[in-house]
Amino acid sequence: MSNTSLHYRTHIKGGSYSARATVKAPRVHAVPDAAPAHGALSSAPSSSTSECSAASSRRSTVCAGVNRRMVQRLREQQSLASAGSRHVALNAVAAPERALGSMKTVHVDLGDRSYPIYIGAGLLNHGELLRKHIPGKRVLIVTNETIAPLYLDRCRKALLEGGQLQVDDVILPDGEEYKSMDVLGKVWDKALECRMDRGTTFLALGGGVVGDMTGFAAACYQRGVHFVQVPTTVMAQVDSSVGGKTGVNHPLGKNMIGAFYQPRTVLVDTDTLASLPDRELASGLSEVVKYGLIRDAPFFEWLEANMERLLGRDPEAIAYAVERSCVNKAEVVAADERESSEGVRATLNLGHTFGHAIETGTGYGVWLHGEAVAAGTVMAADLSYRLGWIDRSLYDRIVSLLSRARLPILPPPSMTADQFRSLMAVDKKVLAGKLRLILLRGPLGNCVVTGDFDPAKLDETLEHFCSGGAASAGGASSA
Ligand code: NAD
Repeated sequence: MSNTSLHYRTHIKGGSYSARATVKAPRVHAVPDAAPAHGALSSAPSSSTSECSAASSRRSTVCAGVNRRMVQRLREQQSLASAGSRHVALNAVAAPERALGSMKTVHVDLGDRSYPIYIGAGLLNHGELLRKHIPGKRVLIVTNETIAPLYLDRCRKALLEGGQLQVDDVILPDGEEYKSMDVLGKVWDKALECRMDRGTTFLALGGGVVGDMTGFAAACYQRGVHFVQVPTTVMAQVDSSVGGKTGVNHPLGKNMIGAFYQPRTVLVDTDTLASLPDRELASGLSEVVKYGLIRDAPFFEWLEANMERLLGRDPEAIAYAVERSCVNKAEVVAADERESSEGVRATLNLGHTFGHAIETGTGYGVWLHGEAVAAGTVMAADLSYRLGWIDRSLYDRIVSLLSRARLPILPPPSMTADQFRSLMAVDKKVLAGKLRLILLRGPLGNCVVTGDFDPAKLDETLEHFCSGGAASAGGASSA
């Protein structure tokens, strides 16, 4: 089978990266059974607000249960920080004005649907970056009950400053388990109650769940309204906000209902990560590691040297990782926007076929997306090694880096090989009944999208990880 590489070059123009002329050739080598052991962040459902343009007075009441306690804890940390203690700086509460000089811009080149990704600290204080991409007079901010108390007022202020826009919001319950058609309906309810027309812009303020849902809501409302993204998790800043994949989950399969729908811009304010729980930070890092594995070996090496800086939220390291990830994502999307069967975009799904099976099998929201992808990446690497496509040393480096990122390297113990087989059979990469996987092949930075592998080896991998044989860490050890 073919094993070609996608070679690309990044043009740096005074802090601005263009994904355009960069792709030279399409290249595809194309916990208990509960969550892993982290301080799990649970959430309680809450209904959306129903009033238009006057909702802010009730906003503080929508944060329920554990989320309210989390926000309270963050506020306490903020006051400790201002009292001189070393704690997370809660920029959500008070963000200093900063110059735009250090801002980076990555361009996603999609012809007349091209758009910029602005990346920098404190960018929510520069509302003009958002406003210039909003063509009409009305904006619906879609967020959730955790993010609203932290960033909704700041986002609203950024939009209102120019005096031209009317801004409403809808606050969804927080959690992957609410990424559903039912909950999505609340966005359309709000837009219709507020009599929003086709010139409206839907703005996603939040992580990947809010972003995916808002984009799908925008794609469908009156057959398509404008859409912008303000991502607030590592996962969303490095991956989900870029590229236009939007949608919701179905009980039988993850992200099964959706649309390709590109935003008009993505504004990444890296300061918002200050309030992100550690477990969520780590979850996002699994997608960062992915870019290194599938196409950017020097980035993987940089991650090996800098993982502890990222976990320690070193602003410079975080900004670099977000920017480099966005450059990689923009290049892949520009080369293959709609994930054609022969295209390169599917490579972004390394580990996801196994990972989606874990998410669906354990129940949405029990394992975080990035946690499931991390375990899935190890399983994909194990299979690649069993097929003789990668060296043992690469497998070991992957396990080591993901472990250092505090991510799971094994699937949940209760999942059986048969469960994996059945859930993987509904993956979107199944073509004509044949399962295709993204597997590593060759030196670091190379992968293939293929259904052309010995199925007995896949069975070996599944049996190995599901029988407890991998518990000693190093699924490939018995290969
Ligand atoms: P998420 O959206 O559930 O956010 C994680 C948690 O962090 C939530 O509880 C959220 O309320 C909270 N949160 C968000 N920002 C915060 C902040 N700044 N401070 C404090 N708390 C904050 O999860 P995620 O990891 O961002 O995204 C996962 C989703 O993204 C999955 O549904 C996955 O399928 C999707 N995804 C989509 C794409 C794509 O291309 N569209 C790519 C990767 C992942």
